[in-house]
Amino acid sequence: MEDLSGGISVLNAIAVMTSGGDSPGMNAAARAVVRTALYEGVKVFGIQNGYKGMLNDEIIELQRRSVSDLIQRGGTFLGTARCKEFKTEEGRRKGLDNLQKHGIEGLVIIGGDGSLTGGSLLSKMGGIPIVGLPGTIDNDVWGTDYTIGCDTAANTAVEAINKLRDTASAHKRIMVVEVMGHTSGWLAMVSGIASGAEYIIVPEVKYNIDEMCEEIVESYKKGRRYTIIVVAEGACSGVGLKNVVQEKTGIDTRVSILGHIQRGGSPTVEDRMKASQLGERAALAIISGVSNVVFGFDEGKVVSINLFDSVNNKKPLDPELVRLASVLV
Ligand code: ADP
Repeated sequence: MEDLSGGISVLNAIAVMTSGGDSPGMNAAARAVVRTALYEGVKVFGIQNGYKGMLNDEIIELQRRSVSDLIQRGGTFLGTARCKEFKTEEGRRKGLDNLQKHGIEGLVIIGGDGSLTGGSLLSKMGGIPIVGLPGTIDNDVWGTDYTIGCDTAANTAVEAINKLRDTASAHKRIMVVEVMGHTSGWLAMVSGIASGAEYIIVPEVKYNIDEMCEEIVESYKKGRRYTIIVVAEGACSGVGLKNVVQEKTGIDTRVSILGHIQRGGSPTVEDRMKASQLGERAALAIISGVSNVVFGFDEGKVVSINLFDSVNNKKPLDPELVRLASVLV
């Protein structure tokens, strides 16, 4: 990959924003963008509340101290939002006008697939270079092994599953745990493997509920006290699955929908470090005039991915995870 460090800054002012679903580590990434740009003598603005804030001109200049006491916090200090108007060309034009009004010459967007798609459309209109950072707990952005927040979310899910196993075991219950992930099974797969779940149901892999229920009944006859079934929200609803499993097995079955708890919390060391590395690379790239790239990780190293390739492709679930689950689960 191209070495962008030490490049000469060609831009005088950039902006950073967070958009779409928040994820732990977005603050660490934005902080790194701000501090790197300031270190290089470039002015930095923060766009508050995603594309909505861009259209409403919620744009503030940031200083070094604006991002103090932040790396350990979940959420995003810039705020995030969803904005229908940005999906129209007129909306994006309004956003671009606001950026230009502040003298902003480059934009770093931290967000998921949707936010990066919005960024690619803004870029196509010309007028401003765009660099994206993948910020989502779903780990579903094409071209990168890692997205900011996925590690914290997986840790949160594993911690919850540990607790659910205790209570399931006490009552000889089956516990269905629904985890987030949008249409991707990554979060379910990783949290299922790491928590030692008995079954993991993800949208990318076919599963047979009848067979699973028969197996569970047999195992309870032999003295098993608990079964954890982790299901990705993109595969089927936890409540629906719980009803089917309860009916087919006749064993007391409960469901726990982990929900937004997976989005919050103080980021893990991995998320803080990776978000910081990505933020630095994004800032160095944008101030040296690079555009239309997303920075991510491939086999532990920071890589740049073409923005249009990233938003036009669907990331498959890592077959190595599927293989590992088939052996261990
Ligand atoms: P995420 O970035 O987490 O995937 P969303 O899919 O909700 O979250 O996208 C966040 C915002 O990005 C949307 O509210 C919208 O403003 C913008 N966006 C998403 N998809 C598009 C699109 N196809 N065209 C233009 N803007 C989009």
